[in-house]
Amino acid sequence: MNSPPPRWSLVIHGGSGRMARATMSAAAEADYRAGLAAALAAGEAILAADGSALDAVEAAVVVLEDHPGFNAGRGAVFTAEGRNELDAAIMDGATRAAGAVAGVTRTRNPISLARAVMVQTPHVLLAREGADIFALETGLPQVDSGWFRTEERWQALAAMKAAAARGESVFDKTLKYGTVGAVARDAAGHLAAATSTGGLTGKRWGRIGDSPLIGAGTFADDRSVAISATGSGEDFIRVGAGHEIGARIRMLGDTPKAAADAVIAELRGIDGDGGLIFVGADGSAGWAFNTPGMFRGCVTASQKPLVAIFDDEG
Ligand code: ASP
Repeated sequence: MNSPPPRWSLVIHGGSGRMARATMSAAAEADYRAGLAAALAAGEAILAADGSALDAVEAAVVVLEDHPGFNAGRGAVFTAEGRNELDAAIMDGATRAAGAVAGVTRTRNPISLARAVMVQTPHVLLAREGADIFALETGLPQVDSGWFRTEERWQALAAMKAAAARGESVFDKTLKYGTVGAVARDAAGHLAAATSTGGLTGKRWGRIGDSPLIGAGTFADDRSVAISATGSGEDFIRVGAGHEIGARIRMLGDTPKAAADAVIAELRGIDGDGGLIFVGADGSAGWAFNTPGMFRGCVTASQKPLVAIFDDEG
């Protein structure tokens, strides 16, 4: 007989990619693991006190946005023009209400701005200058662009420009991504998903990836699943990743894990790379990815926090 699902579950990610033990210093690895553990703890505190999945995913993502090691909020990658343009989305599986922002430049925690779009406007997605103006009206903390800047991300842009000057390909889809996300199922059985990112180093022309697109990189529906993705965003958009996983569960009767694996296989079929985290309406929780690693973590009412980076862990 199947055991009952845990009373609540939380899964987080901090991006997928070409992580290798050989090239990650012990100090960097410890710092990533501490950041993931702190995000799990923030969400766990809410879920264990019978708080909502929505509050838990926002709280977990805020911790990862404030951590300079991940590509979201502080530590976001730079555009070709040397700016930080941030994308984020949040979705409530109970009502399928959703909010998202794209290309915002001043809000310390873009995930909270996405939630404000969901709660305070009749819209789902606000972009660029308009979203920055809306941010002022919300009263959410605004910061100078220097808040987002880290030397490592600045050097990544310099390296990309140097490669372009040598005539080398600028976008490598197997790069280490660093988008962050969280999905949760609360004690009332409601699902929620949240994703936040700086996008891709060297992005141009107002490029927007999958993270703020509901049904692509972020999706939640109490009837099926909540997902948050990371990876080559254009490919997640092309396969409609989040919605496709939900549709497979509802219409084919797939388990969330089988649906997630099928969509990652489909992504690979069009040369896409990355991963995603999920929690199912059935209480299952986990991840699927096709890269050598994904920063990730999971905690449930019946399982202690687990943090992992490389593909042979957890
Ligand atoms: N999926 C994100 C994007 O394409 C990048 C990432 O996962 O780091 O914007």
